[in-house]
Amino acid sequence: MHSCTQELLAARLQYYRDLGIYDFYRRDNTQTQAPPGATEYNLRQSVGYEDSVDERVVEVTTELNVPVVYADPATLENRAEALRTIQQDLGECTRCVLSRLGRKTIVFGEGNPNAELMFVGEGPGADEDEQGRPFVGRAGQLLSKMIEAMGLKREQVYIANVVKCRPPGNRTPEREEIETCSPFLLRQIAVIQPNAIVALGAVAARCLLGINESMAKLRGQWFDFRGTRLAVTYHPAFLLRDPRQKGEAWKDLQMVMKYLGLKPRFTEKS
Ligand code: URA
Repeated sequence: MHSCTQELLAARLQYYRDLGIYDFYRRDNTQTQAPPGATEYNLRQSVGYEDSVDERVVEVTTELNVPVVYADPATLENRAEALRTIQQDLGECTRCVLSRLGRKTIVFGEGNPNAELMFVGEGPGADEDEQGRPFVGRAGQLLSKMIEAMGLKREQVYIANVVKCRPPGNRTPEREEIETCSPFLLRQIAVIQPNAIVALGAVAARCLLGINESMAKLRGQWFDFRGTRLAVTYHPAFLLRDPRQKGEAWKDLQMVMKYLGLKPRFTEKS
């Protein structure tokens, strides 16, 4: 191997070790091919509900350059401890430019380490950056109401973001930022092993699934995320801008509730 390539490879491996990732597995190429013309693997365009919810699980392969992460089974005995280790590995992160663009706090994520359900957002906003907690601003208050309507308490679920530092002006995180930060999210998911993940908005969905599809094509079906069911719904910030879509988001959450055996809890209208 050319020495320059070797050096690059060594640097890359060191980078993954810094992230706490030690094991690498060769991807099975036979599984990365979509079956020829198989409509089953094509994303559905229609998003009619309830009886038309597509029970099939769509398999996708990630195009993003993020490694597959397997949890060490020993860590599952104490998920809280394992999450603390990930947070320590993250440290006062300066791995990407977001650390130099006005970030005040790293928003690691919070919730029940044994959560059955995990929500993944895009990245911290101003309130989250101030408080160091995910989804605590207006969008967060709406997310809390959505969680409660599902019959859960916020403390019962786990909430994290694709990037852990606030992008300046709340811009969409860039690909390099996502690729640098998301391995930590993947480790969090691998430790928590939720029964279901809800991706909030297209950025989270595209990051986790590695596909560049519109929300219309992403909603209304289950995806397989490395063995865990993943559903996509609107980001609460979008729902604040267009409250008429709340009913559609509720249909997405009902699909998740049905799978997890949750009963809705109705509170004041929101
Ligand atoms: N929007 C997000 O995507 N995440 C947060 O934590 C807050 C707002």
